Amino acid sequence: MSEVLVLVDHVAGTVKKPTYELLTLAGRLGEPSAVFIGGTDAGQTVADAVKAYGAEKVYVIDDTDIRDHLVAPKAEALQQLAAGKDLAAILLPSTAENKEIAGRLAVKFGSGLITDAVDLEADGTATQSVFAGSHTLTAKVTTGIPVITVKPNSAAPEKSAGAGAVTPFAVTISEAARSARIEDSRPRAATGRPELTEAAIVVSGGRGTGGGFGPVEDLADALGAAVGASRAAVDSGWMPHTLQVGQTGKTVSPQLYVAAGISGAIQHRAGMQTSKTIVAVNKDEEAPIFDMVDFGVVGDLHTVLPALTEDINNLKS
Ligand code: FAD
Repeated sequence: MSEVLVLVDHVAGTVKKPTYELLTLAGRLGEPSAVFIGGTDAGQTVADAVKAYGAEKVYVIDDTDIRDHLVAPKAEALQQLAAGKDLAAILLPSTAENKEIAGRLAVKFGSGLITDAVDLEADGTATQSVFAGSHTLTAKVTTGIPVITVKPNSAAPEKSAGAGAVTPFAVTISEAARSARIEDSRPRAATGRPELTEAAIVVSGGRGTGGGFGPVEDLADALGAAVGASRAAVDSGWMPHTLQVGQTGKTVSPQLYVAAGISGAIQHRAGMQTSKTIVAVNKDEEAPIFDMVDFGVVGDLHTVLPALTEDINNLKS
């Protein structure tokens, strides 16, 4: 059976959920192998995590010559790893960085590239959701090793025991690939809230908050949820772009999505329409968001959200 390489998404060796989703999808195409680029001392920890989702091999690539540079060294490392292997595909989580790595890889291989897939079939056919989610298309790479980036939350991770054999792989990074150097990097201050794309519950605010995100944040904290925002809220400078949900922001697919003061423009829907249960609070009963909700509350979010938060906190105490 052909191998499928899955680039591990991690923070300092802690594996992130999209990796498990991709391993699940990889199992449909062939034999999943995880590729961990990071500190070699974390290799075994990563292997223990990914083998539960079907990884037969875990290639560990020491990132000493990689970590201080932009994407080019990672593309070179993956190219060297892929050489001589019978690969059904290379899968990467759809992040801005990984899409650039995928593009470079496809050029190196002379392969076809598919970005932002939301599903994969056993024959390599990928589904993409395009034009703000208004159209679904299928595509398949017909030339070379398919390089495919997959959006977070595209598949439910399924446990499946793999061997998880740690396989160190030495790479040689060229001077050219190391010509762009990261001079400084600072982690964002921790909010204590779950990562937006991985959260089971997301509470988002829009222009209707008027910039007062307190009720949105309080409800999120009562529910153990992540905070999201519409582009109007982000463009107004009320929330950082990292929290924007939608076509030009993040795609979320939580169990519960609460939209407060958000009208429901198609570009916002594109980022949240696959949420399992959608609740909206909007003072305009004609707001388009009400066309897609499971539960809708017509009211002022500054009244409704604090009342809901209080009820939830009372239930918890
Ligand atoms: P509005 O549309 O202004 O809606 C505010 C809502 O709040 C209204 O429905 C109003 O009734 C309600 N409201 C007001 N006060 C209250 C109150 N006190 N209590 C309760 N409800 C209240 N948008 C995104 O979100 N994400 C994207 O990624 C994105 N990408 C885009 C890409 C392109 C190419 C383009 C052209 C647009 C994109 N947009 C995106 C913008 C999108 O078209 C909308 O403009 C945006 O989503 C509107 O944000 P909003 O719903 O917060 O604001």
